[in-house]
Amino acid sequence: MLVLITMQKIFYTSVSPEEYHRLGKDFPFPVPDSCPHCLVKIAPQKHGFYRRNVVAPDFSARILIRRYHCKHCGKTVSYLPSFCLPYFQYTVEVIYTALRYILVFCYSLRTSLQLLKGLFWAPAHLQFYTRRFFANLNRIKLGLRQLLPRVELPGENLDKREGAKKVLHIVAAGFARIQTFSTRFSAQCGYSFLAPCT
Ligand SMILES: [Zn+2]
Repeated sequence: MLVLITMQKIFYTSVSPEEYHRLGKDFPFPVPDSCPHCLVKIAPQKHGFYRRNVVAPDFSARILIRRYHCKHCGKTVSYLPSFCLPYFQYTVEVIYTALRYILVFCYSLRTSLQLLKGLFWAPAHLQFYTRRFFANLNRIKLGLRQLLPRVELPGENLDKREGAKKVLHIVAAGFARIQTFSTRFSAQCGYSFLAPCT
């Protein structure tokens, strides 16, 4: 059986999810000039699209994701717009906002959920993002060290919540948008800042 291994790359776009969806196949998708798997300098070929969900407080749709195939190694790569995170339906802005409510502003779960109106999340949903951020904190710090070499990172012995709060401050101060951070982090590390630790 042929198993296709798809790599998901994040590309930066300032286009909103609504506009991306509206443009459909007319969106100017990134065109790789070499394969990110085998690094052969042969442009991978267009290999159709797949659909995935994207959900924001006032928008939800199944959007098209461009996929390419490398003839040399047989693997595929797909390009996610920067408002998406691999394996998450909610936009990176929504998740980042939720993390800031809990970890920077120290709002209660109840207050945070009220502020995130329109999403109808259960408290467990918010707790999932918070726990994932905690679990990834050291990996995020490692990525920040590479992206912002002179930044002063929170120490290992700092309380987890305090460390997470400091890291979110660094992200807010060091990058124009959460999408900028998310795109640059995934390009640098090869996984998203909220990817599960395996
Ligand atoms: Zn290849």
